[in-house]
Amino acid sequence: MPDSSFDNPAFSAALQSVQARIAAACAAAGRDPASVRLLAVSKTFGPEAVRVARQAGLSAFGENYIQEAVAKMEALADLALEWHCIGPIQSNKTRPVAEHFAWVQTVDRLKIAQRLSEQRPAELPPLQVCLQVNVDGGSTKAGIAPEALPELARAVRALPRLRLRGLMCIPDPQPDAVAMQAVFARARVLFDGLRADWAGLDPLPDTLSMGMSADLEAAIAAGSTLVRIGSALFGARPVKPAAVVPSAGIPGG
Ligand SMILES: *Cc1c(COP(=O)(O)O)cnc(C)c1O
Repeated sequence: MPDSSFDNPAFSAALQSVQARIAAACAAAGRDPASVRLLAVSKTFGPEAVRVARQAGLSAFGENYIQEAVAKMEALADLALEWHCIGPIQSNKTRPVAEHFAWVQTVDRLKIAQRLSEQRPAELPPLQVCLQVNVDGGSTKAGIAPEALPELARAVRALPRLRLRGLMCIPDPQPDAVAMQAVFARARVLFDGLRADWAGLDPLPDTLSMGMSADLEAAIAAGSTLVRIGSALFGARPVKPAAVVPSAGIPGG
């Protein structure tokens, strides 16, 4: 993991530049910058990078790969950090998520939600959950279809060890900022609908997680309350080694 490229001044400069982008986007949208949380996406970067980020003032970190994340949490157990799972979750991998993370932003099936609720240790606070919604029919196909969202939200709300905090989306890049904002705006409509359905219930969903390094301005313009920023803070990620594939040449594979 490329920890050696990290030092405090370089990270602080990157952080300042991200914070300036958030502030400018909020100003343009007439929003309070305090209404947008910054989640630092530390996937592929080692514990020392997270330490540097913590020293610069960040305390919430997003991770995609469960094993990598748990190893990092153990290496950083001396720090009070809030870990968010932002990667896809297979139903046989829910236990480490339930046991180690504070938040999961990628719940898109009831089965996963039920397992997370059952497996959440009693001594921990409820797992904070965002439902991932597929607002653009995007290529990854992850996320619940907008039509199915209200039913999933109702079912998740009934699970005792989860707390539904809002929605998350990862739309595909669009040709320009206007088109990008229009896609994010669909998530905003769904989020507002969820809040209207829950009016008077506690807690009211308060989190609309959208926007990454390349598109945080469009996301904030559309109402994002949490941007997930990796490369603009930590630099380019190393290209992941190709997945190990079974030996080639097996007929009919
Ligand atoms: C990697 C990742 C990010 C951060 O992406 P950057 O473009 O590096 O800011 C945000 N959200 C999710 C779900 C990711 O997988």
